Amino acid sequence: MNTIKKSNLIKYALPLVMTVSLFYACGSDDNNDNGDTDAPAVTNYDITPILSKFEGTGLTYSVNGNTVTFITKDLPNHKSPYWDTSNALYEAYNGTNPDWRQNPGSIGEQNITFSIPLNPAEASNKAETPMGAIGISRNGVVFFNQYAAGGASLTNEINSFDQYLGHPANTQYHYHIKPKFLTDTYGEDAFLGLLSDGFPVYGSSENSTTITNTDLDDFHGHVGVTTDFPNGIYHYHITSEAPYLNGNGFYGTAGTVTR
Ligand SMILES: [Zn+2]
Ligand SMILES: [Zn+2]
Repeated sequence: MNTIKKSNLIKYALPLVMTVSLFYACGSDDNNDNGDTDAPAVTNYDITPILSKFEGTGLTYSVNGNTVTFITKDLPNHKSPYWDTSNALYEAYNGTNPDWRQNPGSIGEQNITFSIPLNPAEASNKAETPMGAIGISRNGVVFFNQYAAGGASLTNEINSFDQYLGHPANTQYHYHIKPKFLTDTYGEDAFLGLLSDGFPVYGSSENSTTITNTDLDDFHGHVGVTTDFPNGIYHYHITSEAPYLNGNGFYGTAGTVTR
């Protein structure tokens, strides 16, 4: 019964909210009278369209009201030298980094729960990202921020990234930079996952051009149209230079991560 009521509420209330926010956006444009002919910014974001892209080993999600909850075992669905050698996905390092060195960690099953806003919104006070998990990629592997332990730069840590550019901290596998298995599979411009504030993360290509840090704001994102969000949405990009995935914090209000 509850579910039915909620879906009815969404069905009828959302168009109303949309209409109201469009009305206000038009009104403020008129006041500015700056000749800007851009469509009014849509800020009532809803990330429902990309939830079906999440698919991984030991990954589930469910929607409850305005929250989507992901539970992930954080197991990559690709090969790595960090799997136990008895695992079918074990593969010795065959990447391109001449300074590669394996770290002492290994891939182990986790139990991590993300509660993420289904309707992400810009935060008035932007919070710094924590150490550890700051988001979830579409295969269930967690995203870490741009720092190594203690806030140090990633420069040395990068040498232990495997051929798909992830590595474990003890047994917790994660990506700090481009998850190469996902861009190999889905494309350099593809949807790659979410940060904990609910805003989507894309690869370094957009409309056949390469996105660099100078195209992005302090939080490493911008507002624009994506394939999944034809009306536009704030989104992050993973670029090839530090800080790679996130800059000075979350653009929106982060949900919770528990493990
Ligand atoms: Zn790391
Ligand atoms: Zn973009």
